Amino acid sequence: MAVKKNILFLNPPGNKIYIRDYYCSKVSKAYYLPQPVDLLMQTAHFDSALYNLKVIDAIAEKKSIAQTLEEVIDFKPELVIGMIGAVSLDEDAPFYASLKEKIPNVKIACSGDALLEDFEEKLTTHNWLDLIVTNFYGNGALCWLEGRPTDAQGIVYLENGAVVEQHAKRAKPLDMSVPKQKLFTGNYRMPFANAEPIATVLTNYACPYPCTFCIMSTLPYTTRTAESIIEELKYLKAEGYRFIYFSDQTFYQSKAITKAVLEWMVEVNYGINWMCFSRVDVVDKAELTLMKKAGCKLIMFGVEWAENEPLEHYKKHYTVDQIRHTFKLAKELKIQRLGTFLIGVPGQSKESILSTVKFAIEIDADYASFNVAVPRSNTSFREEAIKDGLIDASVQVMDQSGEQVTMGTGELTRDELQALKNKAYRTFYFRPSYIFKRLANISNWTEFKTHAIEGTYVLKGIVKKNKKG
Ligand code: SF4
Repeated sequence: MAVKKNILFLNPPGNKIYIRDYYCSKVSKAYYLPQPVDLLMQTAHFDSALYNLKVIDAIAEKKSIAQTLEEVIDFKPELVIGMIGAVSLDEDAPFYASLKEKIPNVKIACSGDALLEDFEEKLTTHNWLDLIVTNFYGNGALCWLEGRPTDAQGIVYLENGAVVEQHAKRAKPLDMSVPKQKLFTGNYRMPFANAEPIATVLTNYACPYPCTFCIMSTLPYTTRTAESIIEELKYLKAEGYRFIYFSDQTFYQSKAITKAVLEWMVEVNYGINWMCFSRVDVVDKAELTLMKKAGCKLIMFGVEWAENEPLEHYKKHYTVDQIRHTFKLAKELKIQRLGTFLIGVPGQSKESILSTVKFAIEIDADYASFNVAVPRSNTSFREEAIKDGLIDASVQVMDQSGEQVTMGTGELTRDELQALKNKAYRTFYFRPSYIFKRLANISNWTEFKTHAIEGTYVLKGIVKKNKKG
């Protein structure tokens, strides 16, 4: 019988709580740490009957560099599929280099926002790196390992010194195997979960919309079949997961597939609450009603701005009235609504930011996240910011959460933006009526715990920034 190869899925250690997944990397600013979805989806492609599989999530398991290295060396992996982040590049690159030094024969494949462009330069600068995974939904890394790279999509590598780019294309729904959630044993949590343990599920990949500030618009949208998603939901229930975070960029984008999955959840009385991201123009009354019946607790909507002009300019392609409409419908159905708001786009004024905060209160969002615009690699938004002289093209290391201000707007300096962001949080969250509403809606111990921890994070963030300021 052939000896099974060892495959390691690795989220490397770090000095901070880094979240590196889905082509985004940031320092966790709140009580939230889901399973790294890139690694999770990659586990679906490797058959446990053929490979020994192991996950080390050094961030969630709070492992030091030395502990992680020791554990990796003990496991003797043939292939490491690892995460790498723009925010933590100065720690990640030396970590992988040292790993390669200790196990010279190991192959290292990485996925992450730090590797989305300038492939040749990245592969030659990081000489420990054998493969860049540019599409974590697909089985490119598996095909490459099995010596059939021409079957693979979503990988980039060097062959005889020349760079080979095999990018993924938009594909028909994938009949994917169930991702191996149980291999992830870290302390995973989400702020709005009303039960634990939580599982992360990805029913579709990327996003078909053209928003110019968002990297998702540059990736090939792909979904899974309803059968594949339902298989995974059955497995999660059987394994005792009690809350699901659908980390799709736009849940319900593939209407027929999502409808079939939700109808199944209703039919079998699935009984697990969940949350997701969606768009105000994707879910209307019928969709929201079905979502509620199927256990939806909270939807995160990218509201971004309180004016139609930037919504159009940055190609969100919906209007302020549509935002009002969907927020109202979801509220009527008792689905909680989180609005994410983007502040600090080129040319934005103080008045515009203050009106965004007012709008968050007007639509009665249950939660609001005020993020500062980040000129992310590979977006036309970044090109625009470079052209306007707001950022230098050499800036690569950045926190993509929008927590740190990377650039001013031309109208506002970075410090002014930071102060306005701080004010936005204070204005939104420190309203007595808001605090009363939140407390009144707590229904169990898990919710109480996550609210208390989340509230402490918000307070700490504001106090820390005030001290700095
Ligand atoms: S809809 Fe959301 S995820 Fe999709 S491209 Fe726009 S901002 Fe990105």
